[in-house]
Amino acid sequence: MVKVAIGAGHGYNTSGKRSPAGEREWSFNNKVVTAAIKYLYEYQNVSVIRMDDPTGNTDVPLRTRTNNANNANADILVSYHHNANTGTWGSWTGTETYHYPGSSSGNALARAIHPSIVGAMGIRDRGVKSANFHMVRESRMPAILIEGGFMDSTIDIKKMRDNTVMDRTGKALADAIASYFGLNKKPSGNAYVEIVTDALWTYNTANWDDKAVIVNKGEVFTVVKDKFKVGNGYMYQIKSGLYITANPTYVRYYTK
Ligand SMILES: [Zn+2]
Repeated sequence: MVKVAIGAGHGYNTSGKRSPAGEREWSFNNKVVTAAIKYLYEYQNVSVIRMDDPTGNTDVPLRTRTNNANNANADILVSYHHNANTGTWGSWTGTETYHYPGSSSGNALARAIHPSIVGAMGIRDRGVKSANFHMVRESRMPAILIEGGFMDSTIDIKKMRDNTVMDRTGKALADAIASYFGLNKKPSGNAYVEIVTDALWTYNTANWDDKAVIVNKGEVFTVVKDKFKVGNGYMYQIKSGLYITANPTYVRYYTK
């Protein structure tokens, strides 16, 4: 089981830590972290230790955050932030990812994750950097601190105010973590067949002579019974109760 310690920097009410318009840094951090956790749980064999208060009410002390990650024997630590430069609007921009100076495992983790965040945010790549921050210093596992963009940037704030960008950045983070550990997706619920020939018979029973109705190219049906042998061929049962050939010349089978 891979254990990921992840947290949104600060709390909702932490002083400072606001955009020039008064938006809270934690709220932006929380959107990305919440999405990342949601998408991480689409993978097998992973558990999440959330280091901040998910309600935002408490600014969990940094010492408590790293203690929680260390005590849980987390495999990696990700602290998510948004930057500020002067606190008044400007045109600085970009994403940067920090690790502890001289930490090769932190550097490797940063290099594995950073390009995905840059891609999802769609702003300047300020690179992988090192700094003596508590979160990357006091953690006993590879640790990174991401600054997704600048809260006081007229460029970056547009991205941060766009929930689609926040969600896709969380997904990019989750997918990059999954790829770092080589995680596989959980098998999903449903299987489908799509008709790939112009017209195709369905069957009332699992019998090639018991023809029902014709279905057409492009139609998609939910599979309720996986491929099974009927005479010299194979059939699926679809949600309507009818049966259909499993021959890939006529149908495309996929899961989703
Ligand atoms: Zn911050």
